Amino acid sequence: MARYIFVTGGVVSSLGKGLSSASLAYLLKSQGYKVRLRKMDPYLNVDPGTMSPFQHGEVFVTDDGAETDLDLGHYERFTNISSKQSDNITTGRIYSDVIKRERKGGYLGKTVQVIPHITNRIKEFIKKDITNEDFVICEIGGTVGDIESLPFLEAIRQFSNEHGKSKTLFIHLTFVPFLKSSDEIKTKPTQHSVKELRSIGIHPDIIICRSQQSIPLDQRKKISLFCNVPIDNVIETVDVRTIYEAPISFFNQKLDKQVLKYFNIKSKRKPNLSPWKKITKIVLNTKKSVNIAIIGKYVNLKDAYKSLDEALIHGGISNKVKINLIRIESDHLKNNEIKKRLKNISGLLIPGGFGKRGTEGKILAIKYARENKIPFLGICFGMQMAIVEFARNELKLKKAGSSELDKKCYPVIGLINEWDKNGEIIKGTDKNLGGTMRLGLYEAKLRNNSAINRIYKSDSVKERHRHRYEVNNNLKNQFEKKGLIFSGMSPDDKLPEIIELKNHPWFIGVQFHPEFKSRPLAPHPLFSSFIKAAKNHK
Ligand code: GLN
Repeated sequence: MARYIFVTGGVVSSLGKGLSSASLAYLLKSQGYKVRLRKMDPYLNVDPGTMSPFQHGEVFVTDDGAETDLDLGHYERFTNISSKQSDNITTGRIYSDVIKRERKGGYLGKTVQVIPHITNRIKEFIKKDITNEDFVICEIGGTVGDIESLPFLEAIRQFSNEHGKSKTLFIHLTFVPFLKSSDEIKTKPTQHSVKELRSIGIHPDIIICRSQQSIPLDQRKKISLFCNVPIDNVIETVDVRTIYEAPISFFNQKLDKQVLKYFNIKSKRKPNLSPWKKITKIVLNTKKSVNIAIIGKYVNLKDAYKSLDEALIHGGISNKVKINLIRIESDHLKNNEIKKRLKNISGLLIPGGFGKRGTEGKILAIKYARENKIPFLGICFGMQMAIVEFARNELKLKKAGSSELDKKCYPVIGLINEWDKNGEIIKGTDKNLGGTMRLGLYEAKLRNNSAINRIYKSDSVKERHRHRYEVNNNLKNQFEKKGLIFSGMSPDDKLPEIIELKNHPWFIGVQFHPEFKSRPLAPHPLFSSFIKAAKNHK
């Protein structure tokens, strides 16, 4: 049976449970173990697909088309293990499954309760689809003490009781503040948080203490004493200079060693930290920078484009340049400001998006990048807006638009049945909102000798999608005559997947989200190429 590691958080949120879990997973994987990472989210949405990025940051999409929490993105980037639908669950999903079963009479007349029915369903999730993994790391969202996370904590307590301590380990991540006024490190919040955890029957085996500065031995001893955890299992994590340093830092603090010791197993080999050391060095020492403008609706929220921000940094790493991200709110971008706002820009990126607000500003910016030969990357909605811009200004289709935004427009972007009489609108298994999207991995065939063909060094690619609307393929010839090439198509040749402009140094739009597959240790070729073009832009 796999060994289960449960990661909880205390004191405050945003301590980096996801990053800690991902770093531990890397260290274990790198020592020859098979690892799986899972996330349990306490909110009532069935999945984050319908949540605004303002609320919960980016929606991360997996190969198999699940719309998941952005922490799964961290997991993938650090471990290069592709997450699956079965790796993320929410309270909403658990309740919806239990209630569905109740309606079908699945509980044989019993009173359906949180314990045992909800907790049983959570335990099923924890074990689902696990085959030969050595370790399953399960992160519990939220902070200990929240009402919402109680059923999850109860479920992992039961799980440990049922499977024994030799197969389960509890890690608790807390915050150890430094009080300037008294010049002291304070352990009390940690003590309280552990007390809270113990009151619901969970005794942490390892405590990770997040702190702004190193915690002196005396203070660690105090945590060990009051929280009843061996001193070697009180592990500090001091703020790192770049997140890529995290696996190195946890290795130095012997987190992986203590985990293996707890389970009484030996390391198969030394973990390989040299790639992390290498990129940390690049990130910390790179001086030269490029200005990349990103124009979107959610630019002021830090996590709304998490994977995208990361993918750009990865592209910067492979070109040894820093990315100076200039975030521009699309709402207020007027024609007379475009020139001023984009003056010192070496690359323009229009990311994915939904809905009308701010679209005209994006279209104006794309026109500017096209005419002024500024490298441009359009992702999903960004590509769709590039099509609208070109149709209006070059094909002179003044009414061109996307039917998502204007039902009366001429749909150069539309639901497939709006522009192809045989085209079947995409149907997910779920008929509700969120059930009509093209989600997950789909293949695109790349045209020979196109820019995209050279970038990917391949004739075909599989990338992750998350959209409802498609580029109207009936206009392909008209676009191509004017120099906008449909260089990537779905294998049946019906759906445009990639567009590129001739006579422009770098102008590419993609219907998918390449950012989900970029890794710090393996930057995505599209982002590397885009940043290279930006670096060469004068
Ligand atoms: N709103 C557009 C669609 O549904 C684009 C979605 C996106 O950018 N992810 O097709």
